[in-house]
Amino acid sequence: MKKTFLFILFSYLLVFPFYYTGTASGQSPSANDWKAGVSRAAITPEKPIWLAGYASRDHPSEGVLTDLWVKVLAIEDAGGKKALLITCDLLGFPKKISDQIRDQIAVKYGLARSRIILSYTHTHSGPVLTDALSDIYPLDEYQSEVISEYSHFLEKRIVDLSGEAIKAMVPARIYSRAGVTRFQVNRRNNNEASLTPLTALRGPNDYSVPVLKVTDTTGNLMAVVFGYACHATVLDIYMISGDYPGFAQIEMEKLHPGATAMFFQGAGADQNPLPRRTIPLAIQYGKELAAAVERVLNEDMNKLEPVLTTAYSEVDLTFAPPPSKDSLIKILNGPEGYQKRWASRQLERLEKDGSLMTTYPYPVEIWKLGDQVIMALGGEVVVEYSIGLKKLFGQGIFVMGYVNDDMAYIPSETILKEGGYEGESSQMVYGLPAKWSSGIQSVIFGEMRKLALKSGIKEVSQ
Ligand SMILES: [Zn+2]
Repeated sequence: MKKTFLFILFSYLLVFPFYYTGTASGQSPSANDWKAGVSRAAITPEKPIWLAGYASRDHPSEGVLTDLWVKVLAIEDAGGKKALLITCDLLGFPKKISDQIRDQIAVKYGLARSRIILSYTHTHSGPVLTDALSDIYPLDEYQSEVISEYSHFLEKRIVDLSGEAIKAMVPARIYSRAGVTRFQVNRRNNNEASLTPLTALRGPNDYSVPVLKVTDTTGNLMAVVFGYACHATVLDIYMISGDYPGFAQIEMEKLHPGATAMFFQGAGADQNPLPRRTIPLAIQYGKELAAAVERVLNEDMNKLEPVLTTAYSEVDLTFAPPPSKDSLIKILNGPEGYQKRWASRQLERLEKDGSLMTTYPYPVEIWKLGDQVIMALGGEVVVEYSIGLKKLFGQGIFVMGYVNDDMAYIPSETILKEGGYEGESSQMVYGLPAKWSSGIQSVIFGEMRKLALKSGIKEVSQ
């Protein structure tokens, strides 16, 4: 009886080896590939426009050094599950614009928030958007109008491009692996002005260069998606550009004509590209990053099974107690500057709502492509989040910061205690009522653990 059964099974395997392989891995033989589609468009502003990121600029842009781009990668797994990875050469999306874009994508293409990663490179040489860091820019009515017009154009462009990428999907393969490059410098723990004679720099850092390679089934490169955790602040001039991430994408596309290079920012909020402030340096860092990506493309990469898992949530982060009305009035009566504009905004809110914001809905997201885990966090995330998540979930995970909503810096518990720009004063730049209350790091890690559990991602023991 047993022998007969084994004989039948053996014959079956001889006749249907392919079928057996298919059922064993849970895939049918015709569905061993991903589908992928890419779309892109330049979003370089046509008129002079206020450039985002620095409070010290005092007039609009004077020209274009490099074009700015929105690039969309649509993917679909073997089970028909779709998702969109969108990268943009912009400082960041305020919540309102990001919500509007993601809501329209949901209505038009049926993709929930867990299926969209809306990422921004954080270039400090891109346009200001409506309602973003409004207090730090001394905008007149005309500039506000230019910014509003541009923001509307941008929203529509991103939604349209998302549809184009979905339409363009063809059978594809996706591979992953991380490389390394080391031009990021921890800007809190090293003094920029005295870097030259130093022989040792102080961390923490994360020098990882995560890379996704997307090819068609004949091996032609369709897209290369890569990240690095470092502020795009080489340049502070009045020329529009993608800063070093822009030059890295240009370099990759020169090396691979016809392919689309997409950059995502990591947890680089406390990392600067140093030294900085010249165009040749921005080009240098772009080429260094591209060289790191190119090395990864030329070595063995992990082929990812066409199984996509996605999860998204918004967790409330709490603010510390806000300033009193009296102290706001004191700032309002003080010297001109963004602090005064901030105080006036808080007083207006107090008048209108009776209280200031006490919590913020913070977006976190996890994607798993085959066995490649991608953890994505909103806002300006400092490097300790990347280090901490890798300790929890393994060194192979990819960490993205600066996705979905640019609401604030997200300091670690250490930085929150130390204070300074990333721990405290940047909250005013973002128009928020107070610094974060202690405990946000464990709230965020707790939420990532929940999402990971839901996504079947195991924690590693350290
Ligand atoms: Zn920043």
